[in-house]
Amino acid sequence: MKSVLSSPYSLVLPCSRCFTRNISRRAFAGSMPGSTVEKASSERTAELLESLAEIRARVKASSPADKAVTLVAVSKIKPASDILACYEDGQLDFGENYVQELEEKAHILPADIRWHFIGTFQSNKAKILASIPNLFCVQTIGLEQALSSDRSPLRVLIQVNTSGEGSKSGIPPLSSSSNLEISELVQLAKHIVKDCPRLQLEGLMTIGALELSLTASETEKNADFERLKETRTLLEQHLAQNFPGDNRKWGEEKSGKLLLSMGMSSDFEAALKAGGDIVRVGTGIFGQDQKRPDE
Ligand SMILES: *Cc1c(COP(=O)(O)O)cnc(C)c1O
Repeated sequence: MKSVLSSPYSLVLPCSRCFTRNISRRAFAGSMPGSTVEKASSERTAELLESLAEIRARVKASSPADKAVTLVAVSKIKPASDILACYEDGQLDFGENYVQELEEKAHILPADIRWHFIGTFQSNKAKILASIPNLFCVQTIGLEQALSSDRSPLRVLIQVNTSGEGSKSGIPPLSSSSNLEISELVQLAKHIVKDCPRLQLEGLMTIGALELSLTASETEKNADFERLKETRTLLEQHLAQNFPGDNRKWGEEKSGKLLLSMGMSSDFEAALKAGGDIVRVGTGIFGQDQKRPDE
């Protein structure tokens, strides 16, 4: 349920009231994950592995040699058999947009898949989401939501609306002229760091304007990716200065940095060159009949 309290701070559900996971990983132990999923045809498998290999090669070519970039295969609307074929080729990170669909797939697919929830988050679905044992992260946290888990901290990324388009969810980005103390982003980040013991603020996510990615040239920088980068820098500085003791509550485990999830099929190379850490690729791997979330 959305809280309709007036201050932006209280728009976030306090964590004591956040939904907790109540289904343990063991509940699925007897179900032989993977065994109930039909295999993709050999033609489909060959097609998937070919595009997956191509995307992997392009991801590698656009990433710094010393950086481990995460390729999330966005499998929304695609059958579990497609996911299994990619999984058997070593792909572990998958992204889904719909809670129900994610839940169904998570139950029948291998338990070591790392599910990324990348859809618009609805608080009334939080309980189902939180019950998925191998949910790896929620990339679309906004002001109205916070959720928690009863096992290891659940990674969350705050969705930032870098393009300012009304059709996109997310919180406004920060710029050097922002009043950080009162910005929605800082308030939400602070809330997660201070008040949500089970959430790990892993980074920021954006869906850039389609136009920018289609008209992008080799030389011109994508303004949305630049805005997300600047937002990250400002937020990191602010958190480091204001919460020096809470440095374990934000940033990726190894580097301590806030990660950037940006770039989709049409623009992931530009996103990686701009310094992205996580790319989300759907049609590039699974084929055409998926829609962008803003269409
Ligand atoms: C569908 C979707 C993607 C993948 O988009 P493609 O253009 O198919 O690569 C990435 N991110 C989000 C949030 C999505 O909903």
